[in-house]
Amino acid sequence: MKAQNGGLQTFLRNHRYIFEVKNTVELRVPSPYPKPSSDAQPVRKSYKSKNCFFHFHHPQGCPLVDSDCSYSHEDLES
Ligand SMILES: [Zn+2]
Repeated sequence: MKAQNGGLQTFLRNHRYIFEVKNTVELRVPSPYPKPSSDAQPVRKSYKSKNCFFHFHHPQGCPLVDSDCSYSHEDLES
């Protein structure tokens, strides 16, 4: 489990554009809609512009339906 977490942390660091890596990693639930942007990255900009990690890679898939997810459930990278 520990090693797995380490790998996950590395993965998250390499995919900063997908996850918010701050003090804690918000992984469980992707935001349905962009939160009010407090700093740096305007979330709006990435709205539906990236593949949804959860939809494509998470074993349990994305908890949100396509219309609620701020990432794309259609493969943009193919
Ligand atoms: Zn999604």
